[in-house]
Amino acid sequence: MSEARVRFAPSPTGYLHVGGARTALFNFLFARHEGGVFILRIEDTDVERSSAELETVLIEDMRWLGLDWDEGPAGGGALGPYRQSERVDIYREYAEKLVSAGAAYPCFCTDEELELKREQSRRSGLPPRYDGSCRELSEDERQTKRRDGQSESIRFRVTTEQDIRIEDLIRGEVVFPHDMVGDFVIMRSSGLPTYNFAAAVDDALMEVTHVIRGEEHLPNTIRQLMIYESLGFDLPAFAHIPLILGDDRSKLSKRHGAPNIKDFRDRGYPPGAIVNYLAFLGWSPKDEREMFTVEELAGEFTLESVASSPAIFDETKLNWFSAQHIRAGGAGKFFDEALPFFPKELVESYDRELLAEIFDIVSENLPCYSMIEESAAAFRRGVPSYDDSAAEILDGTGHLLEALADGFGALEEWAGARIKQSIKETGADLGLKGKALFMPLRMALTGSSHGPDLATLIRIRGRDDAIGTLREAVARYRGRNV
Ligand code: GLU
Repeated sequence: MSEARVRFAPSPTGYLHVGGARTALFNFLFARHEGGVFILRIEDTDVERSSAELETVLIEDMRWLGLDWDEGPAGGGALGPYRQSERVDIYREYAEKLVSAGAAYPCFCTDEELELKREQSRRSGLPPRYDGSCRELSEDERQTKRRDGQSESIRFRVTTEQDIRIEDLIRGEVVFPHDMVGDFVIMRSSGLPTYNFAAAVDDALMEVTHVIRGEEHLPNTIRQLMIYESLGFDLPAFAHIPLILGDDRSKLSKRHGAPNIKDFRDRGYPPGAIVNYLAFLGWSPKDEREMFTVEELAGEFTLESVASSPAIFDETKLNWFSAQHIRAGGAGKFFDEALPFFPKELVESYDRELLAEIFDIVSENLPCYSMIEESAAAFRRGVPSYDDSAAEILDGTGHLLEALADGFGALEEWAGARIKQSIKETGADLGLKGKALFMPLRMALTGSSHGPDLATLIRIRGRDDAIGTLREAVARYRGRNV
């Protein structure tokens, strides 16, 4: 068998969303699993909606996810160009071939006329199908219309009399009724191709062996099959992957807050976690395992193990995956990636080693780096801001806080175990233990009643900060019966 060649063919008309990224990933994994070729093709013939900036972001997103392509706009390959806007002459040539063979014809109907006809069909309960007005025009009639300056598109002549069947690699047999579509436009009057025409021509010329894409493209597949056939191209295999739904089981959309890949990038999710989660939107491994690197996914991925039922996007589950990844990698693996997300005051007041330690502690349960600010709040040096609940805990504890500060000052060695011991000894001297001892200390230092292990927190914040903050807290609450 010849080598597998697959493509991801996004239109740069918006940010890469969860569905698109999952399609890209499945193509990538399939290619890697098969030792084949992964192509990136930019489908930018919708000039009004496509933009170069969006293409740039899309390429950044793909690179960030680690979905490197073997052939594509910025990556070489012998069957390019890989940007459809640079292939218009090719589409024109193939469209002319179809016209010469009688498989397509010039159509002079205007958008207004077509809209009117569609409206009429709708009203009479008929499918909105092209009525064939320009199908049988004579050459003279065409010339007259051209002389009159009427603009022309090129329409494919649908002659299929039998239902079309394909063996979809995910969905099994799919039958397209022969009368499902009427004659359809392949070249617009603007001279640009329609999606179906460009995609079919490109898939054939780029020698794509497997078309792996979202199920929403099934109605396009019949048109593309007709184009393949009329141009005498060999058919690729098709694999239509299931839809992604929101938690209310309707198709995933912005309404579900479904973020795009750039959003995940900006919020500081590790790309490996996103890839791991996306793989599970439709695919599942043979065993119960959930944590995979992209290499492991490529090792296991097959189209046979992709479900044909819809997948549900669930941000809570995504956060779980991500937190697992971060915890497993910890500071050793993710610290450098996380560093830009640390609040400035922390970066300015700690050295790298302590910052790595802080990250290790907060990464116990962190879905994305942008949450570090909140998770690492206790490590902010200096007096925190106290809310009303602080007063309840701190009123009357001045004596204790002063004694704790003295104890810290007297320590010879600044180490977690020593700090813990010192707190206990101070408590014993004052007849305090448990909550009565620890809560005022934690509250005075962090402004919160819960957080990381106290002795570790105090060690990391440092002796000067611990003593200074406690004394300052006392001063603040002095007027309040302290
Ligand atoms: N440009 C199309 C899209 O973004 C590609 C569909 C296909 O893979 O054929 O949906």
